[in-house]
Amino acid sequence: MIFRQLFEQGSSTYTYLLACPETRQAVLVDPVLDAVDRDLATLQELDLTLAYTLETHIHADHITSAARLRSLAGAKVACPEMDGLAEADVGVSEMQPLDVGTIHLQPLFTPGHTDAHHAYLVDSQHAVRVMTGDALLIGGCGRTDFQGGSAETLYHSIHGKIFTLPDATLVYPGHDYHDCHVSTVSKERECNPRLGGGKSVEEFVAIMAALKLPYPKKMDVAVPANRRCGEIDEVPS
Ligand code: FE
Repeated sequence: MIFRQLFEQGSSTYTYLLACPETRQAVLVDPVLDAVDRDLATLQELDLTLAYTLETHIHADHITSAARLRSLAGAKVACPEMDGLAEADVGVSEMQPLDVGTIHLQPLFTPGHTDAHHAYLVDSQHAVRVMTGDALLIGGCGRTDFQGGSAETLYHSIHGKIFTLPDATLVYPGHDYHDCHVSTVSKERECNPRLGGGKSVEEFVAIMAALKLPYPKKMDVAVPANRRCGEIDEVPS
């Protein structure tokens, strides 16, 4: 399997490129509109055809390039089915995984950051990877105070769906703000300061309630745009 981790500085977002070496079909997980040229160049450089874009959730901090990549590269837009996005081409769920050539992406329903959030598990020959979106971050987790979020729900998602994966499973988050790239399930289960080391749900709920995070700057623009798969109105000049 071809695998690339790509970083967008403005929103500190990781986009993941996965591709089948036989069919040359690719999928981009959580692509960012501001980085669309980088992603198209990477696909060209690796001689890949973009079959799908795939979202972990409706983002509040950046606009997805899904709609743009559909028109520029012919990719189908895949999103969690339960988001009910009218403009998506493919809905995924735990019962409706996504296959791209020989790659099998298994959705894991992991609500708590948003109410329809999904992580994606990919078992390739050499490694098992989980792209955790904004559910589990390296040494942290996504916020739980908007978009149907709930600290208690997130705790149960992470403990029930991610910390139960094999120890060596590689954890690839949707964001990182400290230049960390990858972790493992065993490391996060033991050391994650919010959720690991046997923290109780009550402790986690108290930690999240005390964060007092600022209102997401781009939320009022990003969420409506992402509900349309990244389609944005042209601003009249
Ligand atoms: Fe998010």
